[in-house]
Amino acid sequence: MIQTVLGDVPAGDLGFCQSHEHLWIGRGHSAEIYSALRIDDPEKSTAELRRYREAGGGAVLDAQPPGCGRDARMLRKISAASGVKIIASTGFHRLLYYPEDHWIYRYAEEELEALFVQELCEGMYIDCDTETPEKTGAFRAGQIKTALEAEFSPLHERLFTAAAKAAGKTGRPLMVHVEKDSDPVGLADFLEKQGLSPDRLIFCHLDRAVAAPETHRELARRGIYLEYDTIARYKYHDDEKELDIICAMPEAGFEKQILCSLDVTRERLASYGGKPGLDYILKTFIPMLLERGLERKTVDLFFYENPARVFDRA
Ligand SMILES: [Zn+2]
Repeated sequence: MIQTVLGDVPAGDLGFCQSHEHLWIGRGHSAEIYSALRIDDPEKSTAELRRYREAGGGAVLDAQPPGCGRDARMLRKISAASGVKIIASTGFHRLLYYPEDHWIYRYAEEELEALFVQELCEGMYIDCDTETPEKTGAFRAGQIKTALEAEFSPLHERLFTAAAKAAGKTGRPLMVHVEKDSDPVGLADFLEKQGLSPDRLIFCHLDRAVAAPETHRELARRGIYLEYDTIARYKYHDDEKELDIICAMPEAGFEKQILCSLDVTRERLASYGGKPGLDYILKTFIPMLLERGLERKTVDLFFYENPARVFDRA
């Protein structure tokens, strides 16, 4: 079973899924740092999901963790209104998204682990951006999002240890935001030492954060999922380059470990006046993948079978 904000869904019923999106980020510290991180109009977010559904979309993974703008109640509302399933995230983000006095800096490892387990098994916290997490709703997260930065501080060690323990206890996958100049292979070693199976790990953004193809293959060889989401992000590179990166993986035999998404901000959601819109993959990018010679069944792995397998409970 896959855990969505509206309840459990059999893995086979997930449908077409983009595995790293942002459909709601409330006002607060994140949006103050970077205004494109404010996605807070329920009607616009619902409209975006409806366009996605009309194009063939069935589900999205919302990658915003608690304490920095996530609002589980709004995710539930826009999912119900649009008919698109949403898998929500517990876990933690890059530290710049938390103000100085945030609870994340003072929580002990056991408290962090208990928080992640609570969100996966009982219910997600609400109102935990500025206050210490206390109130919960009756809707659960379906995965643990984490963020690997160039610096691996004692706090990062505490956060990753807590996340790994929570993933081990709950059987839910652990997703890693990979920042440029970080050490993803070192983190894979660290998480495997914590007892996590590599096939419960999803490493994101390698297509913009890690240039060396050997590193992508090294992680994939271990059984880790690679999530490519620099599609139509032209400040990094064009779609031709993105197609090169994605198409190299089935050629190397790793087609069962690839996930794809847009990792949208406000500026890229059509209902908020942005480009290219959440339906870009379905309408434009999949035809490009097929044009490159990928078989339909390979493309379907990226958007149906692979998300269904990794977001299911171990
Ligand atoms: Zn993201």
